[in-house]
Order: sequence, then structure tokens, then C-alpha cells
Amino acid sequence: MLQDHHGRRFHYLRLSITDVCNFKCNYCLPDGYQCDSEREFLTLPEMQALTKAFAGLGTSKIRITGGEPSLRKDLADVIAMAKNTQGIEQVALTTNGFRLEKDIEKWRDAGLDSLNVSIDSLDSKAFATITGHEKLQSILRGLDKALALGVAVKVNSVLMQHFTASELTRFQAWLKDKPVTLRFIELMQTGDNITFFKQQHLSGEPIKKTLIEQGWARVIRDKAAGPAQEFQHPDYAGRIGLIMPYSKDFCSSCNRLRVSALGKLHLCLFAEQGLDLREYLRCNDVQGLQLQLQKLLGQKEATHWLHEGYTGATTHLAMLGG
Ligand code: SAM
Ligand code: SF4
Repeated sequence: MLQDHHGRRFHYLRLSITDVCNFKCNYCLPDGYQCDSEREFLTLPEMQALTKAFAGLGTSKIRITGGEPSLRKDLADVIAMAKNTQGIEQVALTTNGFRLEKDIEKWRDAGLDSLNVSIDSLDSKAFATITGHEKLQSILRGLDKALALGVAVKVNSVLMQHFTASELTRFQAWLKDKPVTLRFIELMQTGDNITFFKQQHLSGEPIKKTLIEQGWARVIRDKAAGPAQEFQHPDYAGRIGLIMPYSKDFCSSCNRLRVSALGKLHLCLFAEQGLDLREYLRCNDVQGLQLQLQKLLGQKEATHWLHEGYTGATTHLAMLGG
């Protein structure tokens, strides 16, 4: 089992398979994806070596992310590879939903267990303003398709100043009979979005207060479940979660490690640097990689330094997948 010096165990890997994205979310890639150099993203055999190494050290869940992971033509193969690796029990995907309607069946057939779709507003116009794409209705149809196919669905929604009481009401009405977990994520500062962050950051605390006043009850989750706080209400099929990275003790429940599409281990979303694993992946040295991972984990710090405005090497989250 991968465990750090602070007693945290890591059973969850977030694997980015590309940093390319077709959306222009105003908090992430407002000018769209910019390619500044030739890069070689991890190949399927390299990902297989990585997955084997992590699974052998107790990783049971893999989330495939990006950039936009569905832009990779071999996404279904990546899902199948992860699902067929001994020890991996759950394969999840985070996507902007662009190809969801078309491809969800293929992904489910490959072994996908759960899906996180990013939907920052249920208002089509606001959605298009935030992402640069008029795709909300197709994404919602894709989401329904995923549910019908038995794929568990969570929705990620970044909190920004446009988020008013009416946005919350709209989301809640949608959750009445939609068995999904909607997670409001506080906007995080990255190297590229400092001014935007200062103008747009919105705390999740008032939403939490409103939910409690409305009779939403905190779901008691396993300590290994990660840092989201979740709420449920008897009148709603869906749940609401809050991810508040600026709250006290957020990092104490950290259960995940990240590997970038270039094969770098990031011990924290806001780590100072990625630690290169490629030499092990290229030659399928699973054992060597396992020893290296255990060694590198010794460098994991107790917490991020976001409160001090320190964002490490992370210029935007498309680099790593959130
Ligand atoms: N492109 C995919 C998507 O949007 O779902 C996967 C990658 S994206 C970086 C993963 C998640 O990070 C998304 O839910 C996105 O909304 C969130 N995200 C991106 N930048 C963020 C920021 N600065 N603060 C908080 N969440 C952010
Ligand atoms: Fe692309 Fe996801 Fe970033 Fe939006 S949040 S620009 S969809 S990587």
C-alpha cells in the first residue's frame, strides 16, 4: 500500500492522458488550448506499466482525465486496459461531455464504471459563455444515456460569482429526479488565472449553510472517500457535494496521486514539479517503478500552499486533470 509520512493512504490514481482540450473554460483555458512544443503523450503500453505498478501497490481506482480525454482516439482502449488490470476495481472518467452522447456506450462496453461530467451552469447561454461551446443540451442527453446504461454519474460545477440563488434553485430542481451527485467546486487559483480568481472566487460555505437550512443532511462517508462533503435530502434523487480546497483540513483526507500525460508524478495538484517516471514506463520496468514510487511518496507534503497564493508548477488544471 502506498502511504505517506502523514499517515495518508493512496488507493486512487488520476491519470491524465492528454493535456489538449477543445473547450475554452474561462477559469481554465480562456484562450483555448495553446500548443507550445512537440510532446509525446503516454502510449497505451506505458499506461499499462504504470497501472500495473500502482495496482500492485494497492491502487484500486483509476480516474482517466485530461485536458479532454475523449479527444484521444484510443480512450476506449485505455478504459479497457485499466479495467483488465488485476487489482483495479473502479475505472472512472472526467470529461467535458463533448463526445458523451456519441461514445458513452463504447466507453461503458470497455468497462467504464463511473463518469464525472463538468457542467458549470444549466443555463444554455451561461454554459456557452463559460465554455465557448453551445453543447449543454447534447451533454445532458449524453448524461441521461449514461444513467440508462448503469454508469454512475457525478457532475462537477465550478463556483464563480455568476452563481446566484437562482442557479442553485435550477440545479436543485434538476436533481429532484436525477440520481446524480452534483459537486460544487470552489474555484482554485492557478498560475494563469490569478486576476480571474481574485474577481470570481466564491466560497462554498454559504451554499452549505443554505443546504442545511433547507433540510439537506450530511452524508457520513468513509474516511477513504476523499475531501468532498456530501449532502442528501429525502425529496431529491440526487445529492449535492461541496469541494472546498481552501477549507481547514482539506488535505488531511487526500487519497489520490496524479500522473500527467507526459508521465510525471504529481504528489499534489499544486506540487512544485512533476517527478519523471518515463524511464520506467518506456522499458516496462514495473518493479523499478514501484520502488521509485514508494521513495518519491516520502516527499509528499502535508498540505498545499494555496492559501498563501502558491500554486506550484500548475499553470492551469488542463495540465493535470483536476
Ligand atoms: N476536460 C475535462 C473536464 O472539464 O471535465 C477534464 C479536465 S478538467 C481540468 C477537470 C475538472 O477540473 C473540471 O471539472 C473543471 O471544471 C475543473 N477545474 C478546472 N480548472 C479549475 C479551477 N481553476 N478551479 C477549480 N476547478 C477547476
Ligand atoms: Fe478543457 Fe476541462 Fe479545462 Fe474546460 S475545465 S478548458 S473542458 S480541461
